[in-house]
Amino acid sequence: MSAVDMRNVSRVYPGGVTALADATLTVEDGELVAVVGPSGSGKSTLLHLAGTLDRPTSGTVHVAGQDVGRLSDRALSQLRARSIGFVFQQFHLGVGVTALDAVADGLLYAGVPRRRRRDAAAEALERVGLAHRLTHRPHQLSGGERQRVAVARAIVGSPRLLLADEPTGNLDSSSGADVVELLTGLHRAGTAVVVITHDRDLARSFPRVVSVRDGRVSTTRPDGSFAAES
Ligand code: ADP
Ligand code: ADP
Repeated sequence: MSAVDMRNVSRVYPGGVTALADATLTVEDGELVAVVGPSGSGKSTLLHLAGTLDRPTSGTVHVAGQDVGRLSDRALSQLRARSIGFVFQQFHLGVGVTALDAVADGLLYAGVPRRRRRDAAAEALERVGLAHRLTHRPHQLSGGERQRVAVARAIVGSPRLLLADEPTGNLDSSSGADVVELLTGLHRAGTAVVVITHDRDLARSFPRVVSVRDGRVSTTRPDGSFAAES
């Protein structure tokens, strides 16, 4: 089964920029994929579409077997809450919000009662090594810890698909390595993980690298073989 299946997807922004042109990409359950390419090539647009944060101008997107184009906004936000986790370069923890509440809020739209949300949040924070930071607030956490809170929030609903946009972009190499370790651990546990990165060495260590160039998507396998998707 595929976690996300995008077929012939284009995205033209108002003003006429074609950010993605006829992109086809399937990510199977449990796959670990790096997405690389120059700045402005369409990587973030690809990730937003895969995560149903945006709708394509044309083409189809299936997430967890569901055709996103046929879902109401409400059904879509439930699908997102239940099946997809996001990690971005910066995690904007609200001022004064504890790590536990920030992570528990990740389940607000999944229809989970408050008590269960808090239990799940404590468990997720434990999984990212922050069991001792539950009631800490943003100013009491290091950059690396804040990003691990972001990972905890992304995984608190046990998503089938985890999407990360430059998750280590703002971290020192040691904190970055911790976050990468968490992401690869999720992959080993069966979650499909897609990571946009500028780190060539990191990308090379992944089983599959997807390159985006001028809105076009292609895949390189570790054996060096190269294939246009579609
Ligand atoms: P990348 O993540 O590879 O840097 P993006 O997906 O962010 O690329 O952007 C692809 C192209 O679409 C760029 O030319 C960018 O300027 C443009 N773009 C991105 N978001 C918007 C938007 N909301 N409105 C208009 N143009 C956009
Ligand atoms: P430039 O001409 O500026 O090097 P590139 O297209 O080579 O632009 O790459 C833009 C960014 O994407 C660079 O930061 C580069 O590290 C990254 N990148 C490009 N291709 C790969 C790849 N195959 N693996 C890892 N990172 C890549």
